[in-house]
Amino acid sequence: MGPGMVAIPFNVPTTTGTELRYLEEAIRLGALTADGPFTKKCSQLLTEKYGLRYPLLTPSCTAALEMAADLCRIQPGDEVLMPSYTFVSTANAFVRMGAIPKFIDITADTLNLDWRLIEKLVTAKTKVVVPVHYAGVSCNMTEILRLASQYNLLVVEDAAQAFGAKYRGQALGSIGDLGTYSFHSTKNLNCGEGGALIVNSKSFLDRSFVIRDKGTNRQKFLAGTAKKYTWVDSGSSYVPSELCSAFLLAQLEVADEILARRQERYLFYYRALLPLTNQGLVRLPSIPSDCESNHHIFHLILETPEVRTELLTHLRKGGIQATFHYVPLHDSPMGHKLGYRLGDLPITEQMSARIIRLPLFHAITIAQQERVLDRVLSFFKKPLCRLKSSKMRHSLTEARDFPSLLRR
Ligand SMILES: *Cc1c(COP(=O)(O)O)cnc(C)c1O
Repeated sequence: MGPGMVAIPFNVPTTTGTELRYLEEAIRLGALTADGPFTKKCSQLLTEKYGLRYPLLTPSCTAALEMAADLCRIQPGDEVLMPSYTFVSTANAFVRMGAIPKFIDITADTLNLDWRLIEKLVTAKTKVVVPVHYAGVSCNMTEILRLASQYNLLVVEDAAQAFGAKYRGQALGSIGDLGTYSFHSTKNLNCGEGGALIVNSKSFLDRSFVIRDKGTNRQKFLAGTAKKYTWVDSGSSYVPSELCSAFLLAQLEVADEILARRQERYLFYYRALLPLTNQGLVRLPSIPSDCESNHHIFHLILETPEVRTELLTHLRKGGIQATFHYVPLHDSPMGHKLGYRLGDLPITEQMSARIIRLPLFHAITIAQQERVLDRVLSFFKKPLCRLKSSKMRHSLTEARDFPSLLRR
């Protein structure tokens, strides 16, 4: 295997085998524009099987987040609390309406926002808090909802990665005022590009139809409750094509199987790598007992950024495409324009420099996973001596809380 050759990709989009049949059917029906039979079937499934009261399919999670920001009636200067450790769309959806993102640091166990810091950041201008459920593991929604109600904040869940995951039995995305999903190719279920806005409070419903339908009353007109189809408010086009919905339906219908398989693959990595945690060499993902994960991401936290880089190189040389993310938003060029500097969010910075995500996708085989594991384990047989002693001491202090994190 020469360098640069990928034997095991990081991601392969999920397919179930039914997609082509549904695409053919959609083409045969000839109704390819918004809110046709496939989009309706998808929404119906989301309601009946996942208890999502008002799901609106969108062309992406980014689009759903933009709708959410609009529904929150963001005004220039409003402040929105969110983690810095997230995808850019979480912030941008609000920033493009003039909001100022206030970044919250994360906790080292789940990499979710640290709700204990919310109170310190709330001002008279704070309007919304955006919990991002990293890797499909829920934020502490009990505390976030309590603080939101105390300070009169709206809650928009960025559940882009969290379809099918739960917090205390409740679907993520259905807990805040609004929730958003992504069906991008990299997520557990996908239709290439796609998403959904979950409206959990009926008061947002009418306006969400208007925003999604170019600022028109089309929805009411079709329902027979408006006489004329006309322009009623500002809006955009946030509707998916039936081709995307046909593709998505093929996956939603067997979502349970997709999620079960992902869990199996995740646990295969987890069990094999658990011995490394005893020696404090890596930290594995942690799922609090009141969270049901959808196992979107399998990641390792390494002792230092240097070890992370070495392991990434070692994996790449073995033909394994492992990745890392995110460049913290507060330390991006845009974050700097907002006045943030490196050092402002220490846990976010540490975790983003020490994380590795292993290949995890629907079609990954046991043989492929064994190759990944072989490569990770072979790396750790030798490198102890390569670590400088100061780094080792640093990492050992940190390592002490690994086992307790795993027991949670
Ligand atoms: C993937 C992702 C998004 C964006 O989803 P798109 O469907 O690609 O727009 C937003 N937020 C988070 C946390 C994500 O992981």
